[in-house]
Amino acid sequence: MRIPLPKIREIIEAVKALIKGPYTSKFPKVPHVPHPNFRGQPKFDEKICVGCLGCEEVCPVEAIAHKDIIDKNKVPKRVMIHYTDTCIFCGQCEAACIADNQGIKLSNDWELSFFDRSQAQETIEKELALCEICGDVIATKDHLKWISEKIGELTYSNPTLYLSRLKSLGIIDENIISCMKDFGRSDRVKILCARCRRETTLTTK
Ligand code: SF4
Ligand code: SF4
Repeated sequence: MRIPLPKIREIIEAVKALIKGPYTSKFPKVPHVPHPNFRGQPKFDEKICVGCLGCEEVCPVEAIAHKDIIDKNKVPKRVMIHYTDTCIFCGQCEAACIADNQGIKLSNDWELSFFDRSQAQETIEKELALCEICGDVIATKDHLKWISEKIGELTYSNPTLYLSRLKSLGIIDENIISCMKDFGRSDRVKILCARCRRETTLTTK
């Protein structure tokens, strides 16, 4: 039987490999360090994210979701969830993030295997503002603050915004409400959802 001779290219590559060393890495013995521009798993920054749901809107594969809950301390919260097993690392969430693209950012993390698929998710929590009349969710408190900071003094054109802001600063004057306890006007000076705002403004009691 005739043994085929190696081609010239193969000989050159073999010699190069002897001089340069192997092309493959020693992973998993030696951890792999991805390229700085590698697009890995996006991660929320709980301090910067305001819970606006913008990233959830743009995610093409529904890898971001949320649940509005009342926690064990009876605090209303929005839980933002990132499903790491569904994510395709496209970066749309980061590009659309209203918090200067910092609320969620692609990282270099790429080792994402799980034995239990229910673990393939990361969550953060943001406190919610509820309507003081019907209890519906308005937005997260951080999102109201973000809007207020964006529009500046125009905040004072909307009771929900200025009351949220004053409450967060601890300088709300409850007498504003008590001095208006007639003809239903006091309801207008409350943190309200859009429906209750419309009803308290347009309905004469
Ligand atoms: S990187 Fe793309 S797929 Fe992953 S969460 Fe962000 S928008 Fe969704
Ligand atoms: S602030 Fe950014 S990361 Fe947070 S919910 Fe909005 S878009 Fe998503």
